Amino acid sequence: MATEATQTDAPETPEYVTYRVEDKIAWVMLNRPQYSNAQNYRLLNQLDDAFRRAVDDDEVKVIVLGGEGKHFSAGHDIGTPEKDSQFERERKDLWWDHSNKGGAERQYVLEQDGYLGLCRRWQAIPKPTIAMVQGGCIAGGLMLAWVCDLIIASDDAFFQDPVVRMASPGVEYFAHAFELPPRVARELLYLGERMPAERAYQYGMVNRVVPRAELRAEVARIAGQIAAHERFGLALTKQAVNLVEDLRGKRTAMDGVFHMHHLAHAHNQLTTGHLVGGLDAKAMAAANKKQAGEG
Ligand code: ZN
Repeated sequence: MATEATQTDAPETPEYVTYRVEDKIAWVMLNRPQYSNAQNYRLLNQLDDAFRRAVDDDEVKVIVLGGEGKHFSAGHDIGTPEKDSQFERERKDLWWDHSNKGGAERQYVLEQDGYLGLCRRWQAIPKPTIAMVQGGCIAGGLMLAWVCDLIIASDDAFFQDPVVRMASPGVEYFAHAFELPPRVARELLYLGERMPAERAYQYGMVNRVVPRAELRAEVARIAGQIAAHERFGLALTKQAVNLVEDLRGKRTAMDGVFHMHHLAHAHNQLTTGHLVGGLDAKAMAAANKKQAGEG
């Protein structure tokens, strides 16, 4: 339909997300292993396209979201060579283009539909979704895992939100205190430490922890079990749990915290001239290493 090629469908755009269907299961894989599956806009666009494909295919009963390589996802792309914040993003909600706006508007509009909006859209996908998590699941990575219905992790997986270091109350999709007991959510945020899969399992944030070598087989087994049910019954079951979460205040809480998150971005901009207090990918990685006692 488009008469001009857009940035997102230009032939040189790498395949950041791969898609394959096998035995009623759609395997959607983040495919930037060289950058620990950091999420740039084009990856998020491709991810949304893959989910739509899985929803549209009547043969697909269950969707698995995984990441190629050592880590599930290192979060939003804050500094790889393919960071694409200069691109006009493909807008899924009817917010206007953010890229030519100033002040607090630019980041607010970007995150309103590009981060929070996409996550909510994905959480509402009417087919069961399973996050298959190995290695690091950090910041924006948590958002992708949390929007899935089940999380199956390998024993080397860890979960971390170090965003308080950027003087912000955690990532944009504020599910922390719903995924974990409030006191544990505080710890995750205040300390910014890695939470091992086994500990996340104890709080019910993760459904199963299996050895790394068995991760795919276990996810396939569980997905296969779910895929035996009727499509519409599964959709209604998913909606039922989503409804209960929203009645417990999840959606309203997220809206409220999202605005605190943007107060933080604006405050950082005013006081340091930088949205995240001057911390780029390199500085965050260095601080992380120091905390982990590796450097
Ligand atoms: Zn933000």
